[in-house]
Amino acid sequence: MTFAATVLTLYPEMFPGPLGVSLAGRALREGTWALDAVQIRDFAIDRHKTVDDTPAGGGAGMVLRVDVLAKAIDHARTSAPAAPVIALTPRGKPLTQARVRELAQGPGVILLCGRFEGFDERIFAGRDVEEVSVGDIVLSGGECAALMLLDACIRLLPGVMGAASSGHEESFENGLLEYPHYTRPAEWEGRTIPEVLRSGDHAKIAAWRKSQSEIDTRLRRPDLWERHTGVRVQSASGAQREVQDD
Ligand code: SAH
Repeated sequence: MTFAATVLTLYPEMFPGPLGVSLAGRALREGTWALDAVQIRDFAIDRHKTVDDTPAGGGAGMVLRVDVLAKAIDHARTSAPAAPVIALTPRGKPLTQARVRELAQGPGVILLCGRFEGFDERIFAGRDVEEVSVGDIVLSGGECAALMLLDACIRLLPGVMGAASSGHEESFENGLLEYPHYTRPAEWEGRTIPEVLRSGDHAKIAAWRKSQSEIDTRLRRPDLWERHTGVRVQSASGAQREVQDD
């Protein structure tokens, strides 16, 4: 089944962009996924094709109009009634690999890309729109965030990645960061490869990788480590507390 992506944007020419090359590009040409980049401006109501207006309450910037967005979403839903509608916004729920996996197993997505100050808030409840953020950063538009979400989904579609196993060992798939990788040359500018990786002992290598993955997660991403183990990484006072479920 084809994973159908509809992107609602003021800049449809940004798509497929980077998703037109490499594995995603080949999968697009082969029909593993399909893309429809739709111009939001086509759903403007007035003859000037206005999509935005000044913020209620005053302040800088412009806000995307709810009536125009609703028309664009309604149009997208007629051809993809089962796909979730996701707005890219820094106010949304942080995107996770678990959500990406769910989306990749579904019929596709309708992605709503903001610009300027963002969306009129009423669109989210008014059209059952999920709000998703791709990180605690502010982009100038939702398009790069949409490309990111699509890239993450597409690489999980059956047949897109070469080695079937590679999707499952990655960072986040088991709640941890992946272990580090090395390749030839064995020595580079005086730096060597960990001896164990050259031992040929598969059990020892697996144990080393598991332990590196745990060490790196604990040091680099205490938030992930706490979720994984249910134990808080030691605070300055040395106290450890059980993590409450949220
Ligand atoms: N005024 C908004 C930011 C608007 S940025 C705020 O402070 O919350 C313009 C558009 O870029 C947003 O509407 C959104 O579609 C996109 N965008 C910016 N940062 C993003 C992020 N971290 N994740 C997803 N989309 C983002």
